[in-house]
Amino acid sequence: MDEPAQAACPSCGAAGRPVADKTIRAILTPAQASPMLAVERRFCRTPSCELVYYGEDGRAIGKGDVPVRVGLKEREDPVPLCYCFGFSRADVRVELALGGQCTIPARIAAEIRAGRCACAIKNPSGACCLGDVNRAVQEEQEALQAEAQSQAHLRRTGIA
Ligand SMILES: [Zn+2]
Repeated sequence: MDEPAQAACPSCGAAGRPVADKTIRAILTPAQASPMLAVERRFCRTPSCELVYYGEDGRAIGKGDVPVRVGLKEREDPVPLCYCFGFSRADVRVELALGGQCTIPARIAAEIRAGRCACAIKNPSGACCLGDVNRAVQEEQEALQAEAQSQAHLRRTGIA
C-alpha cells in the first residue's frame, strides 16, 4: 500500500513517521509547537536530511531549530542514542573498545521492562530507541573490525 503523497518529507521525499501531540509538546518550545500541533505532522528519519518535523502542508522545523540534538541526524559527538537513560554513541564505542561486547541494549531493555522509559516524550522521534541503538552497536562494531583488519594488513605487509 502506498503512503499518501503528503506523508513525504518536503526536503528528502522519504515518508516520515507520524508524531503524537505529546512528543511535539515535550520536544519543541511552545512557540514552535503550536503551528505543528495545528496540522498532521511527521518525523523525518533520513540521516542526511536537515528537516526534523514537517506538516502535511509543507511547514517544517529543521534540526538547527529543534532544542535537542537529533542523534539520527548527527555524525559528531555527542550523538544521543537513548534519550530516556542518556546513552550516546560514544558510550557504545567505549564499551566495545574495552570489552568487545556492548551491554547497552540489554540495559535499556531491562529499563523498558521495568517501565522506566519515556520515549514518547523524550525521544524526538517519539518512538522507542532500541532499534536505533542496536543499529548503532552494529555500525560501531563493523568500524572497529575494519580498523583491526587494516592494522593487521599493515603489519603483514611490513608497513607498520
Ligand atoms: Zn527529510
